[in-house]
This record gives sequence, structure tokens and C-alpha cells, in this order.
Amino acid sequence: MSTSDEDLLAYADELLPVDAAAQLEARLRDDAALRERLQNVLDQRDSGALSVGEIWRHERLSCPTRSELGLYLMRALERQRADYVSFHLKTVRCAYCEATFAELTAAAAELDDNPQDSRRREQLFASSAGLLKNDRTQGAQ
Ligand SMILES: [Zn+2]
Repeated sequence: MSTSDEDLLAYADELLPVDAAAQLEARLRDDAALRERLQNVLDQRDSGALSVGEIWRHERLSCPTRSELGLYLMRALERQRADYVSFHLKTVRCAYCEATFAELTAAAAELDDNPQDSRRREQLFASSAGLLKNDRTQGAQ
């Protein structure tokens, strides 16, 4: 298994799936060169040269948008696109999208506890498109 800079950053930001993070952690213990790479990546990131969000956007142009993930969660995404999102999450296991999807799932579950809040849920997902726009312009994660 080769480890990319994105993987190292995702690990540092706790965006990796648990099993992948554990694997990487074990390799970091044994591999001084890998530890040095992690340190370099973090130094670059801290100096503002990189953010994990930027890297993922540059390297993973195939990522679905946040609002697509929301629609996928509600099973409201058109079939072909839903298949793609499913592939991206379950087969590619993109850490960035997994984290976003987990966050949306948690938000939706919270609203499910409170049925009269279904309007709030609609607003949550409707505002996802707006959040995404902000995300792009500010370059935040
Ligand atoms: Zn992704």
C-alpha cells in the first residue's frame, strides 16, 4: 500500500476511516522516512501552502458535492449519480467525503428524533449548496 501526501494529511486531521488510520499509525511507528514525510506535509500545511480541503479539491475532482451527498442520504439523487456516489463512498472510500457524509448522517439522525422538524431538515440540505459555495470561495475544509 502506498501512502500519498493526502493520506498523511487526512490521517493528521483524523479524516481517515478508522481501520486505515490504524494501519497508517502502525506503519508510522516502523518507518522513519514516512514519519519525516508526515512532518513535511504538516509543516507545509501549517505554513499555509496546503490545506487538506485544497488538496482534496485538486486531487479529487471526482468528489460529489456536499449537497449531492445530502440528496444521496435522502435517496433523492438521480439513479446514475447515486451509483457514482455509492461507488465513491463504498469502494473508493474517499476519507473527505466519508467525513462529510457522516456529518450529514448525524445531522439527519438528530432531526429524525424530532419528527416535526422535517422542515428544518429540508432547510439543512437546501443550505448545503450555499455552504459549498462558501467552502470554495474561502478555501476552508
Ligand atoms: Zn470524495
